[in-house]
Amino acid sequence: MEVVPGLHWVERIWDTKVYLLCEAERLVVIDAATPGRAGAIWRHLEGLGYAPGDVDEIWLTHGDIDHMGSVAALKAASGARLVAHQADAPLVEGRAPRQLGPVPLSNLWQRLFNWGIDRIFQPAAVDAPVEDGDRLGEWRVVHVPGHTPGSVCYYHPGRRLAIVGDAINHRRGQLGEPPLTFSNDLAQARASIEKIAALDLEVCCFGHGPPLLQDAARRVQALAAGR
Ligand SMILES: [Zn+2]
Repeated sequence: MEVVPGLHWVERIWDTKVYLLCEAERLVVIDAATPGRAGAIWRHLEGLGYAPGDVDEIWLTHGDIDHMGSVAALKAASGARLVAHQADAPLVEGRAPRQLGPVPLSNLWQRLFNWGIDRIFQPAAVDAPVEDGDRLGEWRVVHVPGHTPGSVCYYHPGRRLAIVGDAINHRRGQLGEPPLTFSNDLAQARASIEKIAALDLEVCCFGHGPPLLQDAARRVQALAAGR
């Protein structure tokens, strides 16, 4: 599906949303799904008339296994420059465990979770660690921590368009905050939703669930206000 001109949503990947950004100056894969999904991403890209070697950059919204799972395979096939927030680079590079939320038995749960990730995840070097306010062409990096320390939203002010990863979920027609179990700091995650609500936004794309194509700011503001 072409969300807006030049931004494609790889619908056939059911578990996490991957976007392909086709601009005159660059071709970007945004997020890398779970492990084993590179083939599906390349098929979609080839359907648009591109080859893996045409990809200039891979942008990660955050360092969760269902958003970075195929990143090493994507990078190896494309030679693309890998962009992620500096606070999540240790996750992408396999140098630090994922910190989960303060739920019962969280120490045990966290150890099991990270043990599982170590078995299936192939890390990749982050070539361009970014931070809040950095520019990627016309796009701006907005740091929205709380789900992970280095969660970011990629925002295009001119097009009033944001790709927010898991900072906001869109399920069954409802916007929601990221789940407590998988968020290292829920208070920070709520503050990040307010930060997104302050953006001038028409279109909002999520890591899970379909994009909002109209008047996204109003919906995000309602979420931030608890309505
Ligand atoms: Zn996530």
